[in-house]
Amino acid sequence: MSVYEHEVKALLSQAGVPVPRGVVIRDLDFAAAGDLAEPLVLKAFGPGLVHKSDAGAVVLGLRAADLAAAAAEMRSRLPDVAGFLVEEQADAGVELIVGAVRDVAFGPVLLAGLGGVWTEALRDTALGLCPISERDARRMLASLRGAPLLHGFRGTPPVDVDALVKLLMTVGGPGGVWERLELGEFELNPVIAGPSGVVAVDARHVPA
Ligand code: ADP
Ligand code: MG
Repeated sequence: MSVYEHEVKALLSQAGVPVPRGVVIRDLDFAAAGDLAEPLVLKAFGPGLVHKSDAGAVVLGLRAADLAAAAAEMRSRLPDVAGFLVEEQADAGVELIVGAVRDVAFGPVLLAGLGGVWTEALRDTALGLCPISERDARRMLASLRGAPLLHGFRGTPPVDVDALVKLLMTVGGPGGVWERLELGEFELNPVIAGPSGVVAVDARHVPA
């Protein structure tokens, strides 16, 4: 079973996780993307596409008029493209990873840390047993070595920590997404945190 990013995002969005506005295109007619605000992001999806950027299946910074050509180019290069997700591009911010995993000893655990390209290089993450409290969420963020990045670093504005805490609660708090972990594990990487809000721009589901 393969669950695509846009399907996971639809479920998470219903649960209160902020995700970018987007549309799914299965042919090469991009008219439905006309309502989205530029710049746009084009992502191909298909059964073999897991690490999309490694496969060249993510293009940032597009105008609506560029979508069809970018999609045709991807389709010519990638073996099995089932369709495309076009979404609004979030402003740059601090990229975090937020995940809900099932630990063999501790059960459902929330993970939060520095994400995006830093995930593997820095392994700067904090864990909390679900359900977490708001205090746990704040403590997890404060415990990161990269915590100063959240509070405005070298001229970047401080990120909206309250929105980030709210997201951690939505995923790992009472009644949160973690309660559906019998379905598998979730990973949001990255969540982009900016000065006024956070948005999960990638979502992956690992079936149980
Ligand atoms: P993958 O992790 O499968 O390679 P992502 O969906 O995470 O693909 O996209 C790769 C990178 O592109 C992300 O880490 C992020 O930096 C950027 N990105 C993806 N979608 C968006 C978006 N909607 N807005 C802004 N940046 C995005
Ligand atoms: Mg990703």
